[in-house]
Parts: sequence; C-alpha cells; structure tokens
Amino acid sequence: MGRRRRQDLKNRASICVVAVVCVILAAAWIAGKGFRHAPRAVAAGRLNPELVDGRKAFDEARLLIDLGPRHAGTDGAERAARHIAERLEAAGVKAIIEEFRDSTPRGEATFRNVLGVIPGASDRIVVLLSHYDTKAGISEAFVGANDSGSSTGLLLELARVLRLSEPPARNFIFAFLDGEECLDAYTKNDGLHGSRYLAGRMKVDGRARDVQAVILLDMVGDSDLSVTLPRNSSPALISLVFEAAREEGVREKFSLAPGGILDDHAPFLAAGMPAVNIIDFQYGSAPGKNDYWHTVHDTIDHISHRSLQTVGRVVIRMLNTLIGQPAAPASRGGPP
Ligand SMILES: [Zn+2]
Repeated sequence: MGRRRRQDLKNRASICVVAVVCVILAAAWIAGKGFRHAPRAVAAGRLNPELVDGRKAFDEARLLIDLGPRHAGTDGAERAARHIAERLEAAGVKAIIEEFRDSTPRGEATFRNVLGVIPGASDRIVVLLSHYDTKAGISEAFVGANDSGSSTGLLLELARVLRLSEPPARNFIFAFLDGEECLDAYTKNDGLHGSRYLAGRMKVDGRARDVQAVILLDMVGDSDLSVTLPRNSSPALISLVFEAAREEGVREKFSLAPGGILDDHAPFLAAGMPAVNIIDFQYGSAPGKNDYWHTVHDTIDHISHRSLQTVGRVVIRMLNTLIGQPAAPASRGGPP
C-alpha cells in the first residue's frame, strides 16, 4: 500500500468520522427540538401548562360570541348559560346552572350562574371565575368579544385541561357568572349579581373557609396583552401571578394597576376569600388607551389566541404553586 493510498484511506476515514458525528449531532438536535415541543413530563399531581391551547380557547370564545348578545335577564343570556353548560359537559366536567332572582334598578330579574365542578383529592378549593354576560345599552352591534367572550372561552379551555389531570390535587370550581355588568352604576342591586350570589352562598354553607384562592379572568384576549392587576386583590396572589408570569417568560406583559377595580372578585374578598383579578384594562387603539372597552369595537378581530394561551399558561403555573402549598392552619380545622 503506497503512501498516497494510505493517505486516501485516512481521508476517507476522517470523512466517515465527520459524517457519523454530523448524523449523531443532527439526531440529537432533532430529538432535542422534538422534546422541547412535546408536552413535558410533569411531576405527579402537577399540571402541564403546555396543554393549554390558545386556539381552542379562541374557538370557545367565538362559539359564545356567535350566539349573539347575552345581557343578563334576556333569552340570549339563558341561551349562553345552556351553551356553556353543554361545553363543560362535552369536556367531561359536571355542570350545574344555578338560577336565582335578584333586584335591579329596573325591578327583579332572573340570573343564571353556570358552575363546572371537578372534585379533587383534598378539602381545599380553588375557584376560577369569568362573567359571561354582555353590557346592555351600548349598541345592537355590541358582541363583547373581549368582555366577556375571551375569559369565558379561556375558562372553558382551562376546564378541559384540568379535567385531563386526574385525580386533581384540589377541588376546582369553574364559575361562569351572570350579571357582572351594571345597568346604571355599581350599587348593591346593580352589577356583580352572579359573584355576590355565589360568594354569599359559599360563605353561608361554609365552603368559603376551604377556599385557597379565587382567580378571576376578565378581558384577557387583547391582541396587545397588557395585564393590569388591580390593587384590590390579595397581595399574596398578586405575587403569585408575577412569579408565574416570570416562569412563563412573559413577566413584561403583567403590571400593577394604579388603583383598584370593582369587579367580580370583590364580593369574594368581602366574604373573606383570597382573590385576584387578572384583567387587561388597556384595551384600545393605542397603548394606554381603553377605547375598545364597552364599544362596538370590542370585536373578535381584536382578540388573539396567543394572548389567551399566555394567560392560560400563567394560570396553570399559579395552580401548580397553589397545589404545592401546605394548608394554612385556619383552613385545617373542621366546622366550628
Ligand atoms: Zn364590561
């Protein structure tokens, strides 16, 4: 074997080694990429944020919006309540429609809260809220895509995801609330009807003592997501939202509002339950503006599946932290 031939073989061997290394590296890259995109394995009892699908949440919002206006006390609201109950049942979640009468500035009206219940392996309860009614008196063309279609669609998607994780480490109550919007101005008989009713019931029947957190979603679909947590939320839950947003890599989309916001979380706070309101109260044509809110511009083209997915995944991360927290002494004892 001549020197040249030996050199050829050496070169070929080098080429082979390089090729093999390339194949190994490519395989590792593909495997790594595939692994990153597949749902990650999560510890037993923990929830996987990647299971939240923003497109599914968006589709749920669209189905609700397509039903037409859903002002409290109207046939449209009743149709929406039945639709939400059907969507919960379709996801394998037991649904209950709680119908009640309440006074309004225009006399007594019928309201309906839709509850989805996922029983868990613990006494502790986490309540997830969205209102589903639309504001009356704006325009025949008002569809409430962000207020309240977005949060209703996302809550239905979260119910689907939580139903997949069995047995869940907490009792989850999904409450789709009626009558959040006021007719004139927020008073004790105008607005927040569904939340006042549910919080009152939970206080009377003792469930309020077992509530670890109440998480309200409202106006969470804005394509330009900028969550503004109102200051009348429980401080520990505000910290939990920021921590979860940091873990999800979206901390810059979450800030503290300059003040409080009167919304469905308020009756739960008043009844002694820790509560937080995840709301984007900058819904408009330019940053800092809110000119799509309660106008005919609140349409489906202004909401985004990406924003719904972001908020949904942050909520799942919050739930994982809550599941990991030991019971507070106050909630351990039995009935007094
Ligand atoms: Zn509203």
